[in-house]
Amino acid sequence: MREFAFELRLCAHLESREEVVSRQLGASVHGTGNRILDVVTVAPGPAFEGRVALTPDEIPAGVLDADVGAGRWRRVSEAFDGPPERAHRLAEAGADAGFLELTRRDGQRVVRQVARYPDDWFGRIVGIENKPDLGTPGDLDFQLRHDAALGLLDEVVLATESYVTRAHLNRIPEAVGVWRVDFAADDPITVVREATPLDPDAPGVEILDERGLETRVGFASPDEKAAKRRRLAERAFGKGWRTYGLPACAESKRGREAGAATLPYCAFKERLVDAASECGPDCPGYEPGDAPDADRDAERAARTAWTPDAGEKRTQTALDRFN
Ligand code: SF4
Repeated sequence: MREFAFELRLCAHLESREEVVSRQLGASVHGTGNRILDVVTVAPGPAFEGRVALTPDEIPAGVLDADVGAGRWRRVSEAFDGPPERAHRLAEAGADAGFLELTRRDGQRVVRQVARYPDDWFGRIVGIENKPDLGTPGDLDFQLRHDAALGLLDEVVLATESYVTRAHLNRIPEAVGVWRVDFAADDPITVVREATPLDPDAPGVEILDERGLETRVGFASPDEKAAKRRRLAERAFGKGWRTYGLPACAESKRGREAGAATLPYCAFKERLVDAASECGPDCPGYEPGDAPDADRDAERAARTAWTPDAGEKRTQTALDRFN
């Protein structure tokens, strides 16, 4: 529970840095789901405004990979590789995301992009592993070695509330930066050790599995890493970090941190709570009630460049044509 509250509070502070902030994102290239990053920050690139204007949602990787093109209509079956069901599913996903227009011409479903995709909309990607208490490290060692060896991110940082000793630093891969976080301080983040930049353009080694003395690794080429970075940036942009619920309970309030005021605070437990795992009739403090009013999209729009209405008209037009 401590990690959950730490994560939300840290995200609220990082949001003021004018980067895209998200949490709980996959960072494996070949190892499906074996590495989930706690927090990811994505710095805006030169074309960031173009990406913001395109759509507030994540554009699926399969749609971007197809490079449908903005200038002319193409048959769905020709624009996407693979079986027809896959092609139609991707075309619909792209239209739902507001990135593709989909209609019928001469009895055929045809598709085109609403605009060119701004490849350089994002810059530096930083992964942050939260470990408020270094006394209970869990999988920390594997996670940090995985990230440092793969080099998918520009930087990797460990964030903790613990006092960081020389012995701790010696156990953490050299490239990993370390932040000491004290939410009671005016500036809650103290850099104990700067991160060493990784090299996302170079080949990487992905640690897939470790059992006893056996380690299984995979090779990640620069192209595979670039594709994964775009997917990670898209996922971060579409998802953000406010993916928590506010419980329907009389003790549920809106928590505040660093200008964010929609956090899931419980008056009974006097802390932020993870509604999905902590709330409900089994909780000793539970009293039926309404969840507090909290428009998380409106708060994100007010505090960042992201806007939930971007591309809305185009999306509606595309769907109307499709229907
Ligand atoms: S269910 Fe329990 S933890 Fe959740 S808001 Fe109510 S009292 Fe707090």
